[in-house]
Amino acid sequence: MEIIDGVHAIDTLGVGRAYVYAEADRLTLIDTGLAGSADRIFAEIEAIGRKPEDVAQVFVTHSHNDHAGSLADIVERCGAQVLAHSLDAHVIRGDEPPARANLRGPMRLLAPLVNRGLQPTAPVAIDRVVADGDEVDIGGGARVLHTPGHTPGSVALYLPQRRILFSGDAAANAMGLGPPSGPFGMFNADREQARESFLKLAELDFDVACFGHGKPLDREASLAFKRAAEKLG
Ligand SMILES: [Zn+2]
Ligand SMILES: [Zn+2]
Repeated sequence: MEIIDGVHAIDTLGVGRAYVYAEADRLTLIDTGLAGSADRIFAEIEAIGRKPEDVAQVFVTHSHNDHAGSLADIVERCGAQVLAHSLDAHVIRGDEPPARANLRGPMRLLAPLVNRGLQPTAPVAIDRVVADGDEVDIGGGARVLHTPGHTPGSVALYLPQRRILFSGDAAANAMGLGPPSGPFGMFNADREQARESFLKLAELDFDVACFGHGKPLDREASLAFKRAAEKLG
């Protein structure tokens, strides 16, 4: 599904979304979906008249298996460069297991179930470790925003020239717009930090927002973020 010119959303096995950012000379993937999503992503790439080898880089918003699950398959098939934040890199590389969910109160009873959902992914080498404020060569210059909370190394990608935000799971549009809540909120490593990161995103100016979970917003997105931020207080 094309959200705006050159930005394609791919539903990955019903759980979340990965995105293809198409430029004349190459493609960038933002996230990869659960393990087993590679065929679906490459089918979308072919549907837009491009080839798997056109994928030059994969920006991994965080280490969860619904985002990095197909990374190994994809890199094996197209040799793309992998970008991720240092604080999630050790999980993506397979050096450490994923951080456990931090549940409170009666939700703790769900911990075994939630932690089962946090299975490690096939290990992948990271070509470029990114940090807050780094520039990534997409859409005339994209800025990496460190948005910790959901995971320690969650990052969003902001394209000011094209007025697009790829939020990863620092924002979700699944149970209303905000930091991940409901079933997705159970995976937040630090709820307060996740809230602060959402507020930080709400200070930016953008028209289009692409989430890991929930329908992308194709207009007036930062206005919707600001309204959601007011409700969070
Ligand atoms: Zn996540
Ligand atoms: Zn997710």
